[in-house]
Amino acid sequence: MIEPTNEKNTTIQNIYRQLGISARVYRFCQEILQQLQLRFEEIDQNTEYNQLKVLQAMQNNKVSEACLLGTTGYGYNDFGRETLEAVYASVFHAEDALVRPQITCGTHALALALMSNLRPGDELLSPVGKPYDTLEEVIGIRPSKGSLAEYGISYRQVDLLPDGSFDYDGIRAAVSEKTRLVTIQRSKGYQTRPTLSVQKIGELISFIKKMKPDIICMVDNCYGEFVERIEPTDVGADMVVGSLIKNPGGGLAPIGGYIAGKKECVENAAYRLTSPGLGKEVGASLGILRDFYHGLFLAPTVTAGALKGAIFAANIYEKLGFKVVPNSTESRHDIIQAVEFGTAEGVIAFCKGIQAAAPVDSFVIPESWDMPGYDAPVIMAAGAFVSGSSIELSADGPMKPPYAVYFQGGLTFEHARFGIMKTLQTVVDAGIIEI
Ligand SMILES: *Cc1c(COP(=O)(O)O)cnc(C)c1O
Repeated sequence: MIEPTNEKNTTIQNIYRQLGISARVYRFCQEILQQLQLRFEEIDQNTEYNQLKVLQAMQNNKVSEACLLGTTGYGYNDFGRETLEAVYASVFHAEDALVRPQITCGTHALALALMSNLRPGDELLSPVGKPYDTLEEVIGIRPSKGSLAEYGISYRQVDLLPDGSFDYDGIRAAVSEKTRLVTIQRSKGYQTRPTLSVQKIGELISFIKKMKPDIICMVDNCYGEFVERIEPTDVGADMVVGSLIKNPGGGLAPIGGYIAGKKECVENAAYRLTSPGLGKEVGASLGILRDFYHGLFLAPTVTAGALKGAIFAANIYEKLGFKVVPNSTESRHDIIQAVEFGTAEGVIAFCKGIQAAAPVDSFVIPESWDMPGYDAPVIMAAGAFVSGSSIELSADGPMKPPYAVYFQGGLTFEHARFGIMKTLQTVVDAGIIEI
């Protein structure tokens, strides 16, 4: 496929051709993109708003050059770390935040928030159906060492109704004396249900707080940050929790997680993360703060590129007759795009295309494997600067029906766009569809 560079021909179509995109795929994609301009403008306006929101938080908290430096050892009086946590609290309009490289990933952040705010005898409720796969072991839905179940914390779940709305009657019946914390997952994760808008999350929280005001409402905010102008903490959530190698790290954070919300909830999490008595006072930031600040500053723009890529993918694959969630026209509340291929071959071809479009490891071929925390083999495609980062162009899918692939990320729209064109080329070349 690779042709010698014709240096005189600097047309865009020519460089796509050199990268293996046929004229037919190029034209098909161009036509789709032309119809998306209005939607992209709307995204640009949200980006403008969120960029200013982040800037304002940095200015109001007087981020200085000294904040970008790090501490070692115990990390007492880590001024940069404390200021960054204040910036996160401001961005989320929350009382406090815990933003740490010692939180190793999103699952860890969520486990921390749950384990630190629940006590033996309490009950956890998910009113939005099954939580993200890795949380099954945290909760003890699938047995695991150290799960909430092992500590005597029970779990109840109320599924969404078939149309994706909340089962208010079911939720009312499920809330009891024991219910201490409600976990609401904003994003669809590995499911094909709709992602929840922040407004919808707000309605659910109001309903729950009316029934039992002392319930802690936690939102798994993974993949949702900066997609809208408001965040769940703007509509009553007591805690939002997420990963820094997704949206809020802006592609630059090499590790980390955050919890933002009520002072007491954040404090409980800090005491659990480090130690009773120590809490937020320790935890050296080493040299990582510059990337955390820098990434947060870029996060609204990076998220916008990923969002445009997701919409582009939805429009392509819907036009080709596949079920896509969200569909080509509906409003967006996270950066994930699901495409149901219905066959393992489709999922594999799509993932090969994403891999072949990567800046790193573009020459490797992804294969499914038994990842810890998941109950079926998962195929993952990513060639990222930060290993496993899914704000970078990536795709994954569990090898089980309905054989859906979940696509997300792209540090720039230009890259997301190319990646999706590459998936289409691979799927066409594999003979799965014709265009
Ligand atoms: C990614 C994700 C998680 C878990 O995050 P990891 O960093 O992969 O551990 C949890 N919930 C949702 C909705 C996610 O998208």
